[in-house]
Amino acid sequence: MYVVEAGLCVGCGKCAKECPNSAISVVDKKAVIDYEKCTCCGTCAVVCSKRAVFKVPRRLLLGGGRGRRRGCWRR
Ligand code: SF4
Ligand code: SF4
Repeated sequence: MYVVEAGLCVGCGKCAKECPNSAISVVDKKAVIDYEKCTCCGTCAVVCSKRAVFKVPRRLLLGGGRGRRRGCWRR
């Protein structure tokens, strides 16, 4: 899944504008992804000039793939 590193995000909103699913909003100058809408297309990571969006493997967040099913998990 894709996550925003808040420390790198400057809240420019480019990712929100380019997201085909309108899954990103900018809150308090930080991009926030709505995982109910995100389909893991990767566009936000490509367009972010600050490289603030990262693709994170499922195993790193779920401790071996168990647990939370929320979000998309394309590898
Ligand atoms: S494009 Fe990058 S810096 Fe701009 S709002 Fe999105 S994540 Fe933040
Ligand atoms: S991965 Fe695609 S669908 Fe998900 S937030 Fe980024 S641009 Fe939107």
